[in-house]
Amino acid sequence: MSGIHSGSCFCGAVRYRLTSAPMFVHCCHCRDCQKQVGSAFAINAIIERDRIELLSGAPVPHEMRTDSGRPHDIYRCPACLSALWSDYGRRKVMAFVRVATLDEPSALPPDVHIFTRSKIGWVDLSAPAPGATTGRPAGVFEVYYDMTAEWPAESLARRAALLGAGK
Ligand SMILES: [Zn+2]
Ligand SMILES: [Zn+2]
Repeated sequence: MSGIHSGSCFCGAVRYRLTSAPMFVHCCHCRDCQKQVGSAFAINAIIERDRIELLSGAPVPHEMRTDSGRPHDIYRCPACLSALWSDYGRRKVMAFVRVATLDEPSALPPDVHIFTRSKIGWVDLSAPAPGATTGRPAGVFEVYYDMTAEWPAESLARRAALLGAGK
């Protein structure tokens, strides 16, 4: 990949760029994501928070209710309320960037499709495209997947450096 991906909210008040490739990319078909984005799925590029460089504006966190009780903040443009990224677990160091806010969203295809048990019926995953970080056809999972089997070794190392091993 080119190494630099820029993006923005709908109104353009918040602009950002990713300073490296993400660790991994999810396409999530769970009901929570469907409700929150109002569409068939959410595409999330998982990246270190300090690899999101803000070029203008500052997104603000909105706390979302979760069934697990685990905190989930969605960072939104304060003006147009577009969702730019999620912080699952309120860890501050890792972000799930909404790939559709990138200027070139097709540059980061998902490495995995997850929670396909609730995917919208007409979404056809019979021939998934190669993922952004694995280069292999995206894995398709009814619920979740084994991270050590799916993530590139380099990405697992980045995640461990961020969160500590075993998390
Ligand atoms: Zn905006
Ligand atoms: Zn989801």
